[in-house]
Amino acid sequence: MTERRLKHFGWGREGEGLTAEEEGAALDRYRRLFNVESFDEVAPPSLSDIELRPPRLAPPAALAPCCSIDPYDRAAHTYGKSFSDYARGLAGRYDNAPDVVAYPHNETEVAAVLDWAGGAQAAVTPFGGGSSVVGGVEPRLDGTAYKASITLDLRHLNRVLEIDRTSRAARVEAGVFGPALEAQLKPHALTLRHFPQSFEYSTLGGWIATRSGGHFATLYTHIDDLVENLRVVTPRGLLETRRLPGSGAGPSPDRLFIGSEGILGVITQAWMRLQDRPRFRAGGAIRFADFFTAARAVRAIAQAGLYPANCRILDPQEALNTGAADGTAAILVLAFESADHPVEAWMNRALECSADHGGSPESTGVTDRHREGAAGLWRNAFIRMPYAREGLVRRAIIADTFETAITWERFEAFHDTVKAATEMAIRDATGRPGQVTCRFTHVYPDGPAPYFTFHALGRHGDLLAQWRAIKSAASDALIGVGGTITHHHAVGRDHRPWYDKEAPDLFAAALRAAKHALDPQGLLNPGVLLDP
Ligand SMILES: Cc1cc2nc3c(=O)[nH]c(=O)nc-3n(C[C@H](O)[C@H](O)[C@H](O)COP(=O)(O)OP(=O)(O)OC[C@H]3O[C@@H](n4cnc5c(N)ncnc54)[C@H](O)[C@@H]3O)c2cc1C
Repeated sequence: MTERRLKHFGWGREGEGLTAEEEGAALDRYRRLFNVESFDEVAPPSLSDIELRPPRLAPPAALAPCCSIDPYDRAAHTYGKSFSDYARGLAGRYDNAPDVVAYPHNETEVAAVLDWAGGAQAAVTPFGGGSSVVGGVEPRLDGTAYKASITLDLRHLNRVLEIDRTSRAARVEAGVFGPALEAQLKPHALTLRHFPQSFEYSTLGGWIATRSGGHFATLYTHIDDLVENLRVVTPRGLLETRRLPGSGAGPSPDRLFIGSEGILGVITQAWMRLQDRPRFRAGGAIRFADFFTAARAVRAIAQAGLYPANCRILDPQEALNTGAADGTAAILVLAFESADHPVEAWMNRALECSADHGGSPESTGVTDRHREGAAGLWRNAFIRMPYAREGLVRRAIIADTFETAITWERFEAFHDTVKAATEMAIRDATGRPGQVTCRFTHVYPDGPAPYFTFHALGRHGDLLAQWRAIKSAASDALIGVGGTITHHHAVGRDHRPWYDKEAPDLFAAALRAAKHALDPQGLLNPGVLLDP
């Protein structure tokens, strides 16, 4: 059976989405939150109604078979999946659609596309799954001398090429999507065990380029720690790093490209560190009187060296929104797992740390309950959430998230400042109160990664400006009180003003010099991470 194509507007494949029941329940909740009877609903333009400027360049004959100027391909590569992307897609604004989408099958074709772009004065956007939420894949040419844009979609580089069972690693092509990667590793009883929420529709190359964070809370969950080596096609040629378990030989070449967001080269392959598939699990949900009490318990767990696989606190409102609790308690979703040994002892100790702070487990015992009760309800909401956003923007509901990290000693004041600034910005931008909730996605011995979600009722026609005002106020607040502009969503173009404040000036100068050495014409992703 052939797979349905990916939506040009929305999450997943054509025909996929929330059920009527799921959407009805979400809208009921928003009706109560905003105290309205109904929503002003606008439909996105159909593909045939989208106006695209005629392509400004044509591929050379040798590349024509792997290139497309089809309106579907151009529209589906105009945006990522941020709120601003959805708002502009809804308004039919496709001014920055790429002129050509190239689908190379190998490194030779990747290099040929870069050569062609260099000669044709065209900018190039590397494209994995297009799940960027920071304007990372939009081919914007403002501020550049480029007259055309080419998007380089790596989906055909999708194979696991080699497995080293002894070292437990695999050589993998960068365009592989999460499920296809795990399906190729499964027969070997191995897993990359990297599961961002966007897992289904994002790629290995995208994860590496953005330093993505998997949904496990501690230890090996960041892609950074899973990369053993890289192959990168740059405009200056191919570069391959040495495959090693570790190295102290100067600054790490891998680390230069991990998080480079497509501005230094196109990642085509990587040897990735794998893990045996987990067999032992223990987990469940724990109720706390409030968010900060739960946070103190989580700090104790993190500093005890227990390293849970899951350790998410939902504040009472977020627990209510996801159906995990009734709004009177914060919920800690906690789980341990191992491929090697039973984990009940770790879970027991974590329950003791929780009890020290008044936490009460939802059920007795330490068996695996991570798919039951509050933990299971939270898990389902987490998996279905990406499909909700396209339906919300149609109804002018601004629902978005931002994430950061901060050390423990600043966390409580940080949380209150950021939450209050975001709530105030919602009132100022939309004229009515909205809602701001928080959870932890990752925890470290020295601090958590708080993840905020906000909900506001906007107005069609003003959505982009309203979203931008809220997003800017939240970003100003979290940078102002010492956080990072992103813990795992990357910088792209949307986070640039705050990244520029966060990154030391001399570091930015060094990054510019690296860019100049590898991409002297500045073909790759102009405006991402650095000025064009
Ligand atoms: C619903 C949803 C949930 C999400 N959940 C998470 C999460 O849990 N954790 C997380 O970390 N992020 C999350 N994200 C953000 C996003 O999924 C990540 O940034 C992801 O790593 C992007 O992968 P991608 O393949 O879609 O890359 P793309 O969006 O296609 O590209 C992202 C950036 O990387 C560059 N790039 C892509 N491929 C390559 C390559 N091969 N070589 C060089 N540059 C390249 C692009 O030019 C762009 O700048 C989420 C996004 C959505 C929409």
